[in-house]
Amino acid sequence: MKPAPFEYHAPSTVEEAVAVLTEHGDGAKVIAGGQSLVPMLALRLAVFDHLVDLGRIDQLRGIERQNGTMRIGAGTTQSAIEASSEVAAHVPLLARATPLIGHVQIRNRGTLGGSIAHADPAAEYPAVALALDAELEAVSARGSRTIPAASFFTGTWTTDLADDEVLTGVTFPVWSGKTGFAVEELARRHGDFAIAGATVAVELDDRGTVRRCAIGLFGMGPAPERGAAAEQAVVGAAAVDVDAAEVGEAAAATLGSVPSDIHASDAYRTRVGAVMVARAWRRAIEEAQGD
Ligand code: FAD
Repeated sequence: MKPAPFEYHAPSTVEEAVAVLTEHGDGAKVIAGGQSLVPMLALRLAVFDHLVDLGRIDQLRGIERQNGTMRIGAGTTQSAIEASSEVAAHVPLLARATPLIGHVQIRNRGTLGGSIAHADPAAEYPAVALALDAELEAVSARGSRTIPAASFFTGTWTTDLADDEVLTGVTFPVWSGKTGFAVEELARRHGDFAIAGATVAVELDDRGTVRRCAIGLFGMGPAPERGAAAEQAVVGAAAVDVDAAEVGEAAAATLGSVPSDIHASDAYRTRVGAVMVARAWRRAIEEAQGD
């Protein structure tokens, strides 16, 4: 199928993009890499009279270290993130999640902001943003605002963004000290969306006690989930005493509504999700311990 006819807009600034969105309301939609939106348009699962292409807006691209954080423009491609030594050094969880997104060709076009705004529950970036307590910047004609990741993802393919808002950037905290990071997922083939996946970030103190832990789960609910109960259970414990399988089970135990579909039942996903958390925990701890 082909998309329904639409008027194409190619603004060169965020302000121009916002003006088109304001003028046309829910009849307009921004398009970034098009890797999720174009298939939906082609299948006519989505129909818009106006498409606002963000691809010519230079101010939406860039990777910048700022006061203990790293800000990445929403229009930065997933390939640029993958190639960035700055991201690898300062936000390793994001760097390690990136090669798991689709294939090279998809990452060459797909953007950080597109993945986060699309909010597929099985996508890697939303789970990373949630686990790391990233902050999302949105701009509209009403001004700009910062949305914590914890309140951004509201359900399957739905977010706190309004129709007339453009996501302009994502700010990730930079963790320092004895830290470890890992992403694990199960997919039928490399490049497929995950059936279930987990991201784990840990920080240990000098005696090997868990000072900080952040667990994100994807493919395990209508939106990315945080393994809060498991995080609380390990903080303050000596890392060597923590049983990885128990961390996985604690993270999976608090999940709300785990999806069941042709790829996996809810029970299978829950089991696999627990195993993904356990594997990611082990790898993150090994890295933090310097093994
Ligand atoms: P688009 O497709 O252009 O837009 C997606 C949505 O986000 C639209 O609703 C659009 O309006 C909105 N949007 C985009 N940018 C902004 C912005 N700045 N402000 C407000 N709204 C915005 N993704 C994964 O995470 N993991 C995978 O394993 C994976 N596998 C894939 C496999 C295939 C075969 C394909 C085709 C895609 C796959 N994807 C996967 C999706 C891919 O990562 C997309 O790049 C991503 O989901 C959307 O990014 P995009 O820049 O292409 O956004």
